Amino acid sequence: MQTDPRRDLAACIRMLEANKILDYNGHCSVRHSDSAFYVNIGKATRATARPEDICLVTFEGEVISGNGTPPLEFHLHAGIYKARKDVNAVIHAHSKWSTYLTMARQDYLPVFAQGSLLYPMPILDTPNSINTKGMGDQLAQVLRERPACLLKSHGAVVVGSTLTEAFALVNYLEENAERQYHAQMIGTPYQFSAEERALSQQKLWSPGLFQRTWDHFAAKLQSIN
Ligand SMILES: [Zn+2]
Repeated sequence: MQTDPRRDLAACIRMLEANKILDYNGHCSVRHSDSAFYVNIGKATRATARPEDICLVTFEGEVISGNGTPPLEFHLHAGIYKARKDVNAVIHAHSKWSTYLTMARQDYLPVFAQGSLLYPMPILDTPNSINTKGMGDQLAQVLRERPACLLKSHGAVVVGSTLTEAFALVNYLEENAERQYHAQMIGTPYQFSAEERALSQQKLWSPGLFQRTWDHFAAKLQSIN
């Protein structure tokens, strides 16, 4: 991780796009203060995100610095930062595997160790964009103290105390959803018990593993560039 939040955000976006988690409309943010956050510019190309594609905006969406405006769904970030003082990074992706589950009205199940960190998974029961203050507040109420929630037939929201943590968690969420999807094609997936989930939480909720996850995808991205 670099120390410039704009550089970290750009790297995060490129990695998530390369891993097919973020599409051309996804957005990621890092908290700047109690009233502002860094987020990618709405019109910027995700696949080639650079530090200059990041803007600094207030919770009301007013641009403080940067060469463009935030995505229309900036309310998603503002609503969570207002409600959650422990959150310093937010990722919103129109991710496929986890969204398939909500489309088919299937609950997210803890089917592998890292994925169990995100269980239980709340769901916002509407596919509408989080493009108003009211929707942002509603999302924060559904998320409550959890690290992630799914938006029905829309996507996923993952938060973290750091960007590295949120990045690792959104990867775990999608991998769990993909594994669950395939397991359900051939039978009834095994679900981790409460005891197994607690063990995973204890062993795997670790800044070291989150960093290793980041480094893994950073190295992959470097190797193809
Ligand atoms: Zn969205």
